[in-house]
Amino acid sequence: MKIAVIGTGYVGTVTGACLAKLGHEVVCVDSREAVVKMTAEGKPHISEPGLAEVLMAAVKSDKLTATTDLKAACEPADAVLVCVGTPSRQDGSIDLSQIEAVSGQIGAAIAKTTGYKLVIIRSTVLPGTTRKLVLPAIEKASGKKAGKDFGLCMTPEFLREGNAVEDFANADRVVIGELDAKSGKTAEEIYAPLKAPMLHYGLETAELIKYAANSLFATLISYSNEIARVAEKHPGVDAIEVLKSVEFDRRITSDGKPTLGWTSYLRTGAGFGGSCFPKDVAALAAYAKEAGFGAPLLEAVLEENARARKAAVALAQKACGGSLAGKKVAVLGLAFKPFTDDVRESASLYIIPMLLAKEATVVAADPQAQANGARELGAQTNLSFAATPQAALTGADVAMILTAWPEFKLPQDEFIKLMKTPVIVDCRRLLDGADYSKAQVFPIGRG
Ligand code: NAD
Repeated sequence: MKIAVIGTGYVGTVTGACLAKLGHEVVCVDSREAVVKMTAEGKPHISEPGLAEVLMAAVKSDKLTATTDLKAACEPADAVLVCVGTPSRQDGSIDLSQIEAVSGQIGAAIAKTTGYKLVIIRSTVLPGTTRKLVLPAIEKASGKKAGKDFGLCMTPEFLREGNAVEDFANADRVVIGELDAKSGKTAEEIYAPLKAPMLHYGLETAELIKYAANSLFATLISYSNEIARVAEKHPGVDAIEVLKSVEFDRRITSDGKPTLGWTSYLRTGAGFGGSCFPKDVAALAAYAKEAGFGAPLLEAVLEENARARKAAVALAQKACGGSLAGKKVAVLGLAFKPFTDDVRESASLYIIPMLLAKEATVVAADPQAQANGARELGAQTNLSFAATPQAALTGADVAMILTAWPEFKLPQDEFIKLMKTPVIVDCRRLLDGADYSKAQVFPIGRG
């Protein structure tokens, strides 16, 4: 099928490249010229394992092109996939301006076309958005009728950054929210080569499934962090051990054998980040508040997440004997998780300013997210960046592991050789299981 992917960010780039790999003819559209140029050359503008190979192969086989011309991409397309951003407003509510604008643009682009087209919303949007905002905007700008002249679906994206290409290829299921049966059937044709179960729902159910999933994962993380605070009060008690044992319960893992499924979110750390969990939980909570019933549990999940970041700083302070003033802190990790360069809502963006406010000097390193982290944090007194973890650790009083990059799991002798004092605050439990007996490790969640 001919598919136009509108929005070539993290989701759009992966979706476009992977759909081309499935055999579709894809045109990636973005308003950012630099993004379009790189994509057209087969070079991803984001860092994601395996993406460079898939994208380059798609471009070389003429299965994928890129343009800033939305109209030219939509006119010949059988399907238009919308992957634009749905960020948070200041109050946490969802900002649908990109969705609204792109719906009008798609409507205008298909106004004079003949034949049936399917529009698919892939962005994360609150229940009711596709039917009440997207549909009328396309109808108004195109003069066409939904369900007759064009189809409409909402198929949420479940990929995890750092594993996105793999997640696309091995989707657990494809959720198809459909306006009508014809829309759903056309969407199914796009995803059919994936061999994943196709689950059909109404538009609003599909929209809510995405929020329900992300809210559950975020809730598990905040719950784990609360358990961690209790564990830390008791010498010898380790929250990781406690949570792993909880997983053995057959009410949680049906066969009593923990897997790396949803229970992998039963882990303590420095809080969740990224472009999805914080904004999606906040959007659902804001929606519930505006609707009059509220979502106190989700609000608490966010509050606990902010506390997890403070707890990481408190642990560093404790590791430094009570004060961070004048201490050199090597921050290992700027990305919100390993194997990505994405720093959106990353713990580092919250923790580094707290360290600086406590008069520490910070040297940060990240294998892939350094440029993004430096841009987000801006120039600040006492903040610098190092090209390698070794350079960041040199002369440091304390190291804080904020992202579980394998590169940071250095042998203890290296920490000892490089640092002024080998004190390591392990906020991702990266060092678990290895011998750090000669260093002083403060693992988050362990009493
Ligand atoms: P992003 O900000 O990285 O990308 C959005 C892109 O859309 C940008 O490149 C922007 O320039 C482009 N854009 C916006 N309006 C446009 C227009 N009118 N015409 C052309 N281009 C336009 O966002 P993302 O992380 O890729 O997320 C996209 C959506 O997918 C969001 O709703 C997000 O919640 C959802 N989602 C993201 C992830 C993830 O891991 N990042 C996972 C699942 C779902």
